[in-house]
Amino acid sequence: MDCIFCKIINGDFNTEFVLENDYAVVFKDINPKADTHLLVVPKKHVASLNELDDEILLGKLMMTVKDAVKKCGLNSYRTVINTGKEAGQEVFHLHIHILAGNIKL
Ligand code: AMP
Ligand code: ZN
Repeated sequence: MDCIFCKIINGDFNTEFVLENDYAVVFKDINPKADTHLLVVPKKHVASLNELDDEILLGKLMMTVKDAVKKCGLNSYRTVINTGKEAGQEVFHLHIHILAGNIKL
């Protein structure tokens, strides 16, 4: 599948993961909109929140947010999920943005 995040998960670009568990990876956004800008990405390809029907996975992704910010020593941060082109979604593989410090989004 021609999906940039699936390729990253697959290791095609040797992307460094801030955190990885059984169901998600966390890596730095290539075009950061804050001092810290991470993406939490499920290993399973789901195009957007509209296509997600697994509430367990959604809960696990939010717990992964908590694990990632803890690992980075952050306790004040914003989470964002863009859903659909008009809302600014550019990559159609579900992801949760984590933004902290000088947020420009
Ligand atoms: P969204 O607009 O919510 O779909 O967010 C997609 C995000 O993915 C943007 O903030 C991009 O900067 C980021 N992005 C795109 N390609 C890469 C990449 N190869 N590595 C890291 N982040 C990326
Ligand atoms: Zn994908």
